[in-house]
Amino acid sequence: MDWETQTFGLVVPGGVVTETGIAGLTLGGGYGWTRRKWGLTCDALVAADVVTGEGEFVRASEEENADLLWALGGGGGGVGVVTAFEYECYPLGPEVFFLGALYPLDNGEEVFERWDEFMADAPDEITADVTIWSVPEHPMFPEELRGTPFVGVLGMYAGAAEEGAEAMQPLREFGTPLLDLSGPTTYLQVQSMLDPMFPDGDRYYWKSHYIGDFGDAEIETILDFCRERPSPWSLVPVRSLGGAIARVGADETAFGDRDASVLLSIDGTWEDPADDETNVEWVREFWDATERYSTGATYVNFSMLEEDEAVRSSFTANEERLTAVKRLYDPDGVFGRISPVSVAD
Ligand SMILES: Cc1cc2nc3c(=O)[nH]c(=O)nc-3n(C[C@H](O)[C@H](O)[C@H](O)COP(=O)(O)OP(=O)(O)OC[C@H]3O[C@@H](n4cnc5c(N)ncnc54)[C@H](O)[C@@H]3O)c2cc1C
Repeated sequence: MDWETQTFGLVVPGGVVTETGIAGLTLGGGYGWTRRKWGLTCDALVAADVVTGEGEFVRASEEENADLLWALGGGGGGVGVVTAFEYECYPLGPEVFFLGALYPLDNGEEVFERWDEFMADAPDEITADVTIWSVPEHPMFPEELRGTPFVGVLGMYAGAAEEGAEAMQPLREFGTPLLDLSGPTTYLQVQSMLDPMFPDGDRYYWKSHYIGDFGDAEIETILDFCRERPSPWSLVPVRSLGGAIARVGADETAFGDRDASVLLSIDGTWEDPADDETNVEWVREFWDATERYSTGATYVNFSMLEEDEAVRSSFTANEERLTAVKRLYDPDGVFGRISPVSVAD
């Protein structure tokens, strides 16, 4: 999708790893580097072709089956098989400004505080997250730094690259970076640069919380758990929200509430299946310890489910309406749901 749209100097708001399929991404919401400017992937969805639970082929748009279009917009899927998605495109690129200032993990408190302060008044063009991780074992990074834990400010400017360089400069000055990868580059390059870090075959166990008030207590708990990561490849992105995301009403899309200030994602990532238990345990304990800061919602696409765990997501407020749409298009419950809604309810 990125390749085809960039041919015309356009983008559809997508995810940040190119193997992330647009179907699950859209059906669950979709966070990428243009989100504060143009919203979630599901906000760009204007129409879809769908095979219903009864095997009917229908079109969902504002004009036809508008309730189905609404449910596909971040409702977690399970209402039908989508055979085509039609999106609004926005002009951007080919050149954009990428931000990649990696600071030592010891500077964690300062980096979080200054980023939070900066993002409070940042223009919508700036999407910038704080991510705790380790310098990947990859040739794009200096050999002597690989494996070093860092707290990085990563982001992109959804506008002219030279404007982005100036606007994002303060985010590169939170002390002395270990490494600063920032600079003008192409949108396609930004979209695919993380691909090698998430190979097929690695082990992934990811959970999330939306947080309303982000402050000292949250920062301290996050840093405490990050200092004890059992796998150096587990990453913890704290994603900035607001901007265009927050201008869509809770009932306008099935996705639901958009009031949180950040999305905390605990992305357990490791290589050896023998380490499954330790890493899964770390993610669960981290998630439990940060639950008290949560709005009560989690992002369905970063919420690996426990068999016995009630699934919470940002669209729970829309649950009743989602159930009604599901009953209409999948009366026999052919499709499972990954949301809390079920036809058996
Ligand atoms: C490495 C990595 C990076 C990620 N980065 C991001 C990111 O930057 N931003 C973000 O928001 N999320 C991100 N995610 C999460 C991602 O949004 C989800 O994993 C999403 O489910 C991926 O969609 P998929 O179609 O590839 O997945 P699949 O596993 O194929 O599908 C996910 C769900 O959607 C259903 N589904 C798939 N295709 C269809 C269809 N055509 N019609 C109806 N239902 C369908 C499936 O049945 C399943 O329930 C990332 C995940 C990974 C593993």
